[in-house]
Amino acid sequence: MKITILGSGTSTGIPMIGCHCEVCSSSNPKNKRLRTSAFLESGDARILIDCSTDLRQQALAYHIERIDAVFLTHSHADHVAGIDDLRIYNFRQGGKIKFFGAPDILNDVRRRFDYCFDPPQTGGGVPQLELIPVQNSFEFMGISVTPLPVLHGTLPILGYRFNDFSYITDASKIPEETMEKLRGARVLILNALRKKPHSTHFSIDEAVEAARRIQPEQTYLVHMAHQVEHEATNRALPPEIQLAYDGQVINL
Ligand SMILES: [Zn+2]
Ligand SMILES: [Zn+2]
Ligand SMILES: [Zn+2]
Repeated sequence: MKITILGSGTSTGIPMIGCHCEVCSSSNPKNKRLRTSAFLESGDARILIDCSTDLRQQALAYHIERIDAVFLTHSHADHVAGIDDLRIYNFRQGGKIKFFGAPDILNDVRRRFDYCFDPPQTGGGVPQLELIPVQNSFEFMGISVTPLPVLHGTLPILGYRFNDFSYITDASKIPEETMEKLRGARVLILNALRKKPHSTHFSIDEAVEAARRIQPEQTYLVHMAHQVEHEATNRALPPEIQLAYDGQVINL
């Protein structure tokens, strides 16, 4: 299994428009963060996790030429606003793209992007998506998939476990039942916004504490804000818990 970090930034993207702080003006590419998303390749399966605002740029940069399925964590704009760029894969592949998510979250997608599901006319081209609500574990293209319910403030959203790889973004609390489902995962991607606590996202300290309880071999942090400088933060973190960066490839 190969995972490519397509984006590791919070909703604003880093640099943030108009900001001249140390991180936003840094020349280190690891301090430049597109909106959080990842691409998973396993056997023949090509899976996009969230379709971020920056999907087009990410697909071009990392040569994403096929998408069999999208696994959506939640319907906030930074995770779903790239939905229109999925059209290109409909053109290329023919047929609908499977679009997995929690039932409530998919209802929200259907409402926000109603033109995709009830198009007044097909001439302009709209994303052709097959919405598939998920709740329990299932098999997809040879991968064992387990939805991981977590809380984003008070909003219930999903992470996903794919075999021994787990992906959680935008969480501020991981319920005990989900902790059980994470046991034995070798690699974990987990969100960490900044040093200072936040009402709807884990801080770095909270993410480290969660990672220590889950105990994967390696944890990569994503969804960072512009207060987080890559090199200094990583030096202060233990080697088994490190910030991810855009373009990073993880093999397992
Ligand atoms: Zn987000
Ligand atoms: Zn800044
Ligand atoms: Zn969110």
